[in-house]
Amino acid sequence: MSEFDTEVLVVGGGPAGYVAAIRAAQYDLDVTLVEENTLGGTCLNRGCIPSKALISAANVAHDARNWSQMGITADVDVDFGRMVEWKDDVVENMNRSVEKLCKANRVSLLEGRAAFEDEHSVQIDGPNGESERLTFEHAVLATGSRPIELPGFEFDRPGVLDAKEALALEERPDSLVVVGAGYIGMELSMLFAKLGVDVTVVEALDTMMPAFPSDLVAPVSSAASELGIETNYGELASACQSTEGGVTVATEDVDSEERREYDADKVLVAVGRSPVTDTVALDRIGLEPDGDGFVPTDEHGRTDLDHVFAVGDVAGEPMLAHAGSAEGEIAAAAIAGRGPSAEDRAIPAVAFTSPEIATVGLSREEAEATDHDVSVGEFPMRASGRALTTGHTDGFVRLVSGDDGVVLGGQIVGPEASELISEVTLAVEEGLTTAELAESIHPHPTLSEAISEAAANEHDLAIHTLNR
Ligand code: NAD
Repeated sequence: MSEFDTEVLVVGGGPAGYVAAIRAAQYDLDVTLVEENTLGGTCLNRGCIPSKALISAANVAHDARNWSQMGITADVDVDFGRMVEWKDDVVENMNRSVEKLCKANRVSLLEGRAAFEDEHSVQIDGPNGESERLTFEHAVLATGSRPIELPGFEFDRPGVLDAKEALALEERPDSLVVVGAGYIGMELSMLFAKLGVDVTVVEALDTMMPAFPSDLVAPVSSAASELGIETNYGELASACQSTEGGVTVATEDVDSEERREYDADKVLVAVGRSPVTDTVALDRIGLEPDGDGFVPTDEHGRTDLDHVFAVGDVAGEPMLAHAGSAEGEIAAAAIAGRGPSAEDRAIPAVAFTSPEIATVGLSREEAEATDHDVSVGEFPMRASGRALTTGHTDGFVRLVSGDDGVVLGGQIVGPEASELISEVTLAVEEGLTTAELAESIHPHPTLSEAISEAAANEHDLAIHTLNR
């Protein structure tokens, strides 16, 4: 019998925390998971899942309106309220699944907010004002992140929305200003534009989605213009006024300080997220966030305290659900004293825009900055038979390889890029070569053939496109 109430305490039930909890339980550890809201965290309740549900629904409506060349014409009526109910059903269904999975794996669930009392105990404040003390042998912090609030655009102001509120709207706004053309800004701008909302984007930099190479972003930028989205670059959102009709957003030109104003029903602020470290009384166990606000950890997620781990958004970039889940598995393994290893893992990144963008590993420029002898193979989606049959032909696959043709990275923009990137991720992770990808037989007709053709193109042997 352990001297502690629980062997592993996990604080936070998002995709990093609940995965850490289930994995630790699979390793026969006694696990308690504390969550103050709903299991599934931002990803399941307020981010990835609701946004992808609404994006799928908006794509159906948009495609139905725009497929006359396939012989389909339709008078499409969008019942926004019903669409939102459907999205909520998807989320609730997944909430129940996560809870069932935790219970089936014998993870004890507690509702409340946990804060450290000392190095081996927390106080948990429950939803009804009750509190209890729990001692633990190991702790895993998985408290996630929250949206950054812009001064003047506080989220409690009428008409100012964060992503969570934008995904929880019950009525469709007629017009929307979006501050920030990053992941969230562009995914949601395109979603709302497809539902007929008049969208204006304000971005401080001179490009949208600066995290991705510009040639991957170009097809998205064109598609955004075609959807009628007005994107204003080099403008800092500086003030917001609630009006009778909605909001007025003031911006300042980054170079000239010239001011502009935009009126809309609502403004969505998507200027990044910051880690949540201020709810757990970290100071009581002598831990301190780094300069960027993250809890510092080693490659196993271990903090400066041997028995306390941090995983997911609270532990650093990239703030992506799948990265957090992998970190949760690695931390659980370290606690249990078993694999999997925490060696450098290839982490894909995906933007669910139209078309989708997906990357993994090194870009061409990053690879060239290393000692590798870099080669590149590409294949355009317009040359893919399968892409032609779906009517979505914008984009390309690029594979970047180094010495001996070992795949170092890949960049995809186009239909189902979010699915296709997994093959490239496997290649990067396992050190496969472009020759191996090209030789592996891909089913026809599929979009995945674009990957084997890009691999073959690197050897000037692609069949369905001219080689360089
Ligand atoms: P982001 O960092 O992707 O983009 C924020 C943008 O806001 C930047 O381009 C920045 O230049 C701009 N900006 C900042 N201040 C501004 C101002 N005052 N006026 C105008 N523009 C301004 O952040 P995000 O879109 O909020 O997303 C947050 C995080 O959530 C991301 O880092 C990502 O990790 C995660 N996320 C991932 C996905 C996905 O994987 N598909 C989707 C959504 C969010």
